[in-house]
Amino acid sequence: MKITSIQTVRLHLPPQSAPEGSRRSWAEHAEVANPMSRYPHVKRQRALWLPKNWGPLWCKVTAEDGTWGLGLSDHAPAVAAVIDGHLAPQLVGQDCLATEKLADMMFRLTKPYGTTGLASYAISAIDLALWDLKGKLLGKPVYSLLGGPARDKMVCYVTGNDIDWYQELGFRAFKLACPYGPADGLDGLAKNEEFVAQARERIGDACELMLDCWMAFDVEYAVRLAERLRPYKLRWLEECLIPEDMDGHIELRRRLPDQTLATGEHWYTHLPFQAAIKQRMVDILQPDINWCGGVTTCQKIMGMAEAAGTSVILHGGARNPYGQHFSYAFAGIPWLEYFIGSRPGVPLEQAPRLPGQPVAKDGCLTPSDAPGFGLEIDEAWLEAV
Ligand SMILES: [Mg+2]
Repeated sequence: MKITSIQTVRLHLPPQSAPEGSRRSWAEHAEVANPMSRYPHVKRQRALWLPKNWGPLWCKVTAEDGTWGLGLSDHAPAVAAVIDGHLAPQLVGQDCLATEKLADMMFRLTKPYGTTGLASYAISAIDLALWDLKGKLLGKPVYSLLGGPARDKMVCYVTGNDIDWYQELGFRAFKLACPYGPADGLDGLAKNEEFVAQARERIGDACELMLDCWMAFDVEYAVRLAERLRPYKLRWLEECLIPEDMDGHIELRRRLPDQTLATGEHWYTHLPFQAAIKQRMVDILQPDINWCGGVTTCQKIMGMAEAAGTSVILHGGARNPYGQHFSYAFAGIPWLEYFIGSRPGVPLEQAPRLPGQPVAKDGCLTPSDAPGFGLEIDEAWLEAV
């Protein structure tokens, strides 16, 4: 079955109305430490420096018989230029089921300008659309094509700072977004400690607690903070460093031998994961299936990680059906990350989500068993860009 078209599209969902909620969400007001925190004019909020009009990127791949699949990534329109201007015309006419070959072609096609970064987002969108298409053509959910399911349901850990609300929803593992970094000095270190201490106090010792540092630190700060946080028994410390600083990751591992470390959401292609596994840089790898190259790249990462006994927990694994299906297929993925940016008091079923996307119940989730990734998206909602 040949590919007849690959195009980036806009998705126009029917209007969804969410209730007001009982208070503002942490995502609306909390300061989060980040790589730009050293610049006071943009320190307060990431929205002050992130690209303003680059939304989600959707990619539609259509086969000879008219069946189509849909992939999702980020940073449109920059990524759309890579798909529409380069990758699409090279892949049209190829066998749509040959996902391994097509992923290898995309990996090599992007070499002159680099396969990482924006190109990797483009590759992810096309690869995910191809897997959605494959599932629809074969009448199977993607987790089944990957050899799953590995279990009945997935345990979710929640990401966000509105812990009281997440407890009410039934979650038992919590990841906080770290507010302060090196730019906030000793005062920030103390405030970070207080922030983590309060969360530990609230959830008690029978629940897991993690801290996400979103590329905000250097090795020295990460070590100082980890030492102060030792009494609060963090399950892991996440993404402390600039992702390309591989020597920094090795040094951090050396200086924090007992602290569980996790990273990888801003690593692209399978190669940084190979380096991290080989050098034992971290304990938990966190590829993002919508960013690092899609299902095909994540399969490669899983194979290497399983062989080395390293855990994998996808970044944002529960935030859309792509991560849900992949995680559900592998016994080596113990948890789903459930990001909550909606307001406390708004039930998860009523918070914005994609049609056909399951939500967590009592901290657990089971993906849809519909063909492909189980998205319930009408073709009429897709508009060619
Ligand atoms: Mg993170």
